[in-house]
Amino acid sequence: MQKGELVYEGKAKKVYLTDREDAYLVEFKDDATAFNGKKHAQIEGKGALNNRISSLFFQYLAAAGVRTHFLERVSEREMLVQRVKILPIEVVTRNLTAGSISKRLGLEEGLKLSEPVVELYLKNDELGDPLINIMHAYVLGFATREQVEKIENMALRINDLLQQLLTPKRIRLVDFKLEFGSLPSGEVVLADEISPDTCRFWDAASSEKLDKDRFRRDLGGLTEAYQEILRRLES
Ligand code: UDP
Repeated sequence: MQKGELVYEGKAKKVYLTDREDAYLVEFKDDATAFNGKKHAQIEGKGALNNRISSLFFQYLAAAGVRTHFLERVSEREMLVQRVKILPIEVVTRNLTAGSISKRLGLEEGLKLSEPVVELYLKNDELGDPLINIMHAYVLGFATREQVEKIENMALRINDLLQQLLTPKRIRLVDFKLEFGSLPSGEVVLADEISPDTCRFWDAASSEKLDKDRFRRDLGGLTEAYQEILRRLES
């Protein structure tokens, strides 16, 4: 696999062209960022861990029939993915309250929601990724109506599948963020990553945080937490 030109660099990943017309190479960086990039650090080993963890989640979801951009993990830090156009929408699914929903609505963290809640955010760093609703998403042209309906349904299905995987491993899936991409045909597929950077994972017994909140909240032990997630996924 020939690594070509850098086409995009984000906070946690770089995307390169390859000698395959239909594929990109995604490289996971060791950078940790929070609060829209205001907090930043290098955490050795994080990129490799997120590459492994994301690859396992994508393989599991693909085996369950979810269309994803994932093709294969090609090295310690890199995965090969299908070329897609990323929709400018972040899709957050919540099972328990935490983070921004707790802050915005004045709710204690860890309350069980009677049903999963899907939220949409516009991907726009300058505006701080504002919360939008389903009508904003298609009326303002961020995606088609069919695409928005599809991604909400996919998010709920992925939530069910991830919980089926994680519950026996004593991991509570509190919430997570997904991104979707469109193929030239207009079909939407799951893209980006699924990792402790983009999910809240709590130990089922102790509620210990095994995700990026360890960095956001200065709890320390981020690498150990990510290793623990990988260990449980592989067990
Ligand atoms: N999330 C993410 N990227 C973002 C914002 C949120 O991956 O730009 C994830 C976050 O890790 C959590 C979920 O989405 O698992 C919900 O995040 P929330 O809205 O509570 O925002 P936070 O308080 O984490 O910024």
